Amino acid sequence: MGIKMEQLRTLLGEVYDLQAINLILGWDQQVNMPPGGAEARSHHLATVNRISHQKFISDEMGAALQAAKGELETAGAEPDSNDMRIVIRMQEVYEKLRKVPSEWVAEFARMTSLAQRNWEDAREASDFAMFQPHLEQVIKFRRQYADFFAPYDHVYDPLLDYFEPGMKTAQVKAVFDELRPQQVALVRRIADSGVQIDDSILHKRYDEQKQWDFGVEVIKAFGFDFERGRQDKSVHPFTTHFSQNDVRITTRINPNFLNPALFGTMHEAGHAMYEQGIGEGIARTPVGQGASLGIHESQSRMWENLIGRGYPFWKAYYSRLQSFFPEILSDTSLDDFYRAINKVEPTLIRVEADEATYNLHIMLRVELELALIEGTLAVGDLPEAWNRKMEEYLGIRPSNDAEGVLQDVHWASGYLGYFSTYLLGNLMASMLWEKMEQDIPNMDALVEQAQFGDLLAWLRENIHQHGAKYKPAELIRRVTGKSLTAEPYVRYLTNKFSDIYSL
Ligand code: ZN
Repeated sequence: MGIKMEQLRTLLGEVYDLQAINLILGWDQQVNMPPGGAEARSHHLATVNRISHQKFISDEMGAALQAAKGELETAGAEPDSNDMRIVIRMQEVYEKLRKVPSEWVAEFARMTSLAQRNWEDAREASDFAMFQPHLEQVIKFRRQYADFFAPYDHVYDPLLDYFEPGMKTAQVKAVFDELRPQQVALVRRIADSGVQIDDSILHKRYDEQKQWDFGVEVIKAFGFDFERGRQDKSVHPFTTHFSQNDVRITTRINPNFLNPALFGTMHEAGHAMYEQGIGEGIARTPVGQGASLGIHESQSRMWENLIGRGYPFWKAYYSRLQSFFPEILSDTSLDDFYRAINKVEPTLIRVEADEATYNLHIMLRVELELALIEGTLAVGDLPEAWNRKMEEYLGIRPSNDAEGVLQDVHWASGYLGYFSTYLLGNLMASMLWEKMEQDIPNMDALVEQAQFGDLLAWLRENIHQHGAKYKPAELIRRVTGKSLTAEPYVRYLTNKFSDIYSL
């Protein structure tokens, strides 16, 4: 490696370290911190964020990027080499971050840390009015953020780009418009099918420790490496990483409902295996992490849904699950269990939604946050707007704020623009899955034998190792040869539920 590239890697390494420290603080806040720590933690986060941001946007970094690029070009470096991709991607991020003042970054981190703490109380009390002033602050800050990037095509573009580099609001709207009528029609056909599925078996008393143990057994088989990761409990399950060799997941266990821990654990493991698969050559640089939230979600939802809610997986694991809970499951057949975990039923809570209705939850949120950021919806009117849309899309109405507008932490964390990536991730997962089926023809048979090694190796080779070397759209095109489309996803959903509901 040339001397200039080495200097750049040293600088980027320090930025990466600060970002990792920031994530450790966030992990601790959600897993261990007593409520009294909130005020001090907001300052910790503000300080580390400011220093990290200042370091990234420094003139020294700008010069180091230039110098390294010149050195690589002189040496005739391959355009796809790690070093070249690091320089190109980091120059893009550098130009982006230069537009945002460090003081704003610090203040935003402090404000959202407190808002998140307040959201927990407001949700507990099911009282949106408590949270309203915090959300108004978040919206104000997010508009300011967008304005750092003016002129833009749409005020939401910079927010989206923050999570999904290169993605435009117009594209998201187009994909949503393509998908919405098909998704609504599918849910209606299911409702009209007359097929009734009994999922009461999932709502029994399931021992918490056994739920934990079964989840751990499954994700170990998937390939989650506990030598380089761990699992804890938190109110809102999440994944974070401090390097590819220290990746943390959390889960939450409901003693009266099997699904949250079971599928939540698979979901977070999908995120975590992505981070554990980052290539050595890009480690300890900001390129050494997932390419975007959409790509990330394609990984988590693939393990949770395409594998974890699939028939081949349960052919392998149902008798094992029965052995954990014989008193509950011994009289339920594999087929009945499979139908129960795939029952389609409008629900108020996004994270508990089935695959057929899930995207409607996302569309609702994205439409509302677009209206909030465009200024056509006042924060005070949000709960009513939420409830109205729930009725329109799913035919049900929340009876309180906790099961309505306060259910997700994202807005409290300042994450406007985030929700779209869940839906994009679903679409990407199906695109990748169709390619995997071409490359691994006996995939179902492997899953039926609880053999996940070839699947994980394919993901490592095609997605994980590259980290953020490529923007999401480019990565998807490199792997599948296509640009983002809803077709494979609609095919997957239609096939699956036509079978279950005899459509
Ligand atoms: Zn996720």
